[in-house]
Amino acid sequence: MDFQTIKEEDASYLAGTYRRFPVALVSGKGATLTDEAGKKYIDFGSGIAVNTFGVNDEVWKEAVIRQLNAIQHASNLYYTLPQIRLAELLTKRTGAKKVFFGNSGAEANECAIKVARKYSFDKYGEGRYEIVTLKKSFHGRTIATLSATGQEGFHRYFGPFVEGFVYADPTMKGIRSAVTEKTCAVMVELIQGESGVNALDGEFVQLLAGFCKERDILLIVDEVQTGNGRTGRLYAHQYYGVTPDIMTTAKGLAGGLPLGACLLFDKTAETLTPGTHGSTFGGNPIACAGAVSVLERLDENLLLEVQGKSAYLKTHLSRIRGVEEVTGLGFMIGLSLKEKKASEVATKCLEKGLLVLTAHDKLRLLPPLNITKDEIDEGLKLLNEVIEA
Ligand SMILES: *Cc1c(COP(=O)(O)O)cnc(C)c1O
Repeated sequence: MDFQTIKEEDASYLAGTYRRFPVALVSGKGATLTDEAGKKYIDFGSGIAVNTFGVNDEVWKEAVIRQLNAIQHASNLYYTLPQIRLAELLTKRTGAKKVFFGNSGAEANECAIKVARKYSFDKYGEGRYEIVTLKKSFHGRTIATLSATGQEGFHRYFGPFVEGFVYADPTMKGIRSAVTEKTCAVMVELIQGESGVNALDGEFVQLLAGFCKERDILLIVDEVQTGNGRTGRLYAHQYYGVTPDIMTTAKGLAGGLPLGACLLFDKTAETLTPGTHGSTFGGNPIACAGAVSVLERLDENLLLEVQGKSAYLKTHLSRIRGVEEVTGLGFMIGLSLKEKKASEVATKCLEKGLLVLTAHDKLRLLPPLNITKDEIDEGLKLLNEVIEA
């Protein structure tokens, strides 16, 4: 099928929710993708931080196919082994005590919101249900996670929203003025992804953790995008030296299959009880088998490699004339541009054979963790050409 036909058929059958780039990706290897006409692209996006080891990865495919040949789904009425193995890995590598599995970032955050409210209800009774989130945050597209998202633009059309969310500036002053006796939790992304790859200040995060602890307010860290090696650490809170009470992750967890996880630390480990939460597909054995394979590979050596490749990439990005600022950690990188519009640069890059993303007025780069030095160099060359043109 030629691209024009693909585009027309997509428009006739699919809900118009996406502003898609004009390309249909059909295959690839690692960080090099191929479109329907055979043209190749260097991938600096990983399908929005999902394809942790790129596409068509042998180790990951082996793990997934092995599970596919065994059993694809059993329901959570029965025990399944990949879930247990994955939960064991997640808890051992984070210090969390328990894990709940869903299918997406939004679903992981829904779980976090329910756990925070129930923790408070169990301990303090009704009325302590408010969750403070940050301005410019992004927590998902369901009604509750949209309510949690601190950006006006997402709040059009769909009201009334879920009550009990308050948006604060990312400063202790902002937090103090948003917290009341009704507050049960503060929820943050350590690096705000959708709104432009802005890392929170380290001192602020430390102070916030201490403040929450003193008041028995739960600290929820949304690592849907920052998790699973993306920042050069397994989870970004490990950089910041704080331990959350609840952590969520999804995107890169299963290396390309839909899976979300809500990790419960000491305080919240026993909050969920039979009947209080659930998900038909959550913790699907194939997705979990993929995730086990991803986590087993994300060892210290691999994370060091990501840190090294990130330093190289960021150094060369900052040398491009026309780049104002490089932000982010590891392979979660934001670029603000001096003159050019990010969306126009992204379109030009696509034409030249490079996939990059945008986040508000910035370019956003999220390469697969196993991208090669040659692929990085090729991507840099194309970015350079487009930005300096
Ligand atoms: C992508 C994202 C979500 C939503 O995840 P979905 O899988 O699309 O539901 C939530 N929080 C953050 C920080 C994200 O980047």
